[in-house]
Amino acid sequence: MENIETDIAVIGAGPGGYAAAFAAADQGKRVVLIEKSSRLGGACLNAGCIPSKALLHATHHIPAAKESEKRGISFGPVAIDAGKLNQWKEGVLTKLANGIGMLAKKRKVQVIQGTARFDGSNDLTVETEDGAQPVKFTKAIIATGTRPAVPPVFRIDSPHVMTSTEALQITEVPESLLVIGGGYIGLEMGTVYASMGTKVTMVEALEGILLGADPDLSRPVLIYAKRNFDKIHLKATVDSLTGTDDGVQAGISAGGKTFDQAFSKVLISVGRSPETDALELGNTSCELDERGYLKVDANQQTTDPNIYAIGDIAGGILLAHKAAHEARRAVADITGQESHAKADPYIPAVVFTDPEVTWVGLTETEAKEQGIAHEVVKFSWGACGRSLTQGRIDGNTKLIIDPETEKLLGVGMVGPGAGELIGEATLALEMGATAKDLASIIHPHPTLSETIMEAAEMFYGSAIHALPRNR
Ligand code: FAD
Repeated sequence: MENIETDIAVIGAGPGGYAAAFAAADQGKRVVLIEKSSRLGGACLNAGCIPSKALLHATHHIPAAKESEKRGISFGPVAIDAGKLNQWKEGVLTKLANGIGMLAKKRKVQVIQGTARFDGSNDLTVETEDGAQPVKFTKAIIATGTRPAVPPVFRIDSPHVMTSTEALQITEVPESLLVIGGGYIGLEMGTVYASMGTKVTMVEALEGILLGADPDLSRPVLIYAKRNFDKIHLKATVDSLTGTDDGVQAGISAGGKTFDQAFSKVLISVGRSPETDALELGNTSCELDERGYLKVDANQQTTDPNIYAIGDIAGGILLAHKAAHEARRAVADITGQESHAKADPYIPAVVFTDPEVTWVGLTETEAKEQGIAHEVVKFSWGACGRSLTQGRIDGNTKLIIDPETEKLLGVGMVGPGAGELIGEATLALEMGATAKDLASIIHPHPTLSETIMEAAEMFYGSAIHALPRNR
């Protein structure tokens, strides 16, 4: 095949890669975007953020409908057409992926479908269906993401063992599901299946779920899961999996006992591994860290001056919005522009469980561990009009504040819809807001956002819908 020459070759078309390709094209660069999958959008669109949120949205109507009985609104028995549900979800993904394709075309980004490998610091080859396509580039941006980590003990040849990728393909409603890992992916997928009527058992090695979130914020999720899952084993391990004709036999150690239990399906959600295998990085000067992620500087440049890395493959927090932010930084550095995407940004996290958990900036746990002077104010959603109208008061808004400067250090929230509120908190942190700033802004009534204002007022001793605190 004829050599393609380009200014920038981007490998991987996830939220990092396509954002980088588009930003570079908008700066007038010739861009080649290489993606091995048939659909653009990466893990986020095809096997991550979007399908999981589509399924969470679709299935949350089941418990919500049951719950509404107490308000005098009843429905008939639930019937789930798994094929139709999956088809609807696929429709959402196709629409979004087509949108990315269209935007690439309009920007004259050349999309090549195939697997890229480096031949040197200015050359790569894309293995396509039609043969090997050589590409000569001035700069390359690696955005190849991660794949589900499957520890050797769980690698058994069984169609009943799934990672999140397979679990997102709903083909049936299994009778029972073992979720290994109490992180956000396991909890979100467990919630989807539990809502559909599957008996979900979760096994987590640590003492709690949702590592990273303050325990008081993850507790309501644990309470929900305890009520809606069949069983949750904390400080427990799955020691073995054995395939059977109609499921999997799991060897579990929990509560000082070891026992076997049969499940229809097993979901392994114990982490992600960097996707570097096919890249042949040995032909470049790129270096990996001890966990296998690409080493980068503050501008996302790797140890090879011609090659940048962004998103999951650059390590740190594995989230789509972090990938897109790093894309902007990398492109700004390559094109010599000043980046509007700041270095060392606040990265909000949202867990789309029921209730949702979200946080940004310093957590209370981190403040304590690092000995940082801080004050915590919490406003219960039980005193929020909007929460009551929604019949859900299991929420809290918590601010971590510097007692000296009164500056906001961090925000954490739990409650249905909390994820939509973290944008305000992130903006406040980035703008260096004080508790006074938050307390003095008019928040629309009745909305959940009022809980941020009321929590900030509490710092000064008195919020309208809470009793005064002694300061
Ligand atoms: P990816 O999206 O992983 O894209 C990498 C792309 O590179 C892939 O398309 C892959 O096919 C391609 N590729 C790999 N190697 C090659 C090669 N050699 N040649 C060509 N192409 C290659 N994040 C959030 O922010 N919010 C969420 O709600 C959320 N939910 C999630 C739910 C689940 C179940 C999972 C698994 C993840 C979720 N994430 C979420 C994480 C999010 O998906 C990732 O952080 C994000 O996709 C990372 O983007 P990326 O561009 O770095 O890589």
